[in-house]
Amino acid sequence: MFSRGDMHTITLNLAGLKLFSQSTGLEISAAKSDLFCAGVDKVMVDRIQALSGFKVVIWNTASVPKHQFLTWLAFKQRLLTKDRLAKIGLIEDQMCCLCSNGNESHSHLFFECDYSKACMAMLANWVGLQAQQKTLQQLVQRIARNCKGDKLRRQAYSAIINALVYFIWRARNDKMWNNHKWTVEQVVQ
Ligand SMILES: [Zn+2]
Repeated sequence: MFSRGDMHTITLNLAGLKLFSQSTGLEISAAKSDLFCAGVDKVMVDRIQALSGFKVVIWNTASVPKHQFLTWLAFKQRLLTKDRLAKIGLIEDQMCCLCSNGNESHSHLFFECDYSKACMAMLANWVGLQAQQKTLQQLVQRIARNCKGDKLRRQAYSAIINALVYFIWRARNDKMWNNHKWTVEQVVQ
């Protein structure tokens, strides 16, 4: 859910969530939820945190919020990849539609898939980032380690990874739902 960072909008959203809980019996666990904030000052972040009870995470301002949000979902393995859809019985065919060479899971899609490897290799060439990590978690840790004390560089690398995850997922959706294939060059550009 995306929301403006003012108290009126936040209050309305929380009221909406409360209504949702009352009508469905499902409750959001504040302890297990993160709230992402961009472009709001520390005072506002503290007020939002006190009101909602959620853990507030400040967004990297170098990244586009929707890229960052998607990477967060991928990081937490919450994207509806084919292995997850198959597990709940919605589909049978788990084959990755980008490379047709392995079942689609988070680790396949972002690290083992020949298509995303080609995207990553092209990008690595441009920015000098060599990535041999196997999971998004490892990659993020590696960037944090390598860029210790260099916030700008870390933000730049993070923004690149966020954009790459976003465009790989978009290419996957376009192929899966519209049968339209993006070239590696289109994804990276
Ligand atoms: Zn693949």
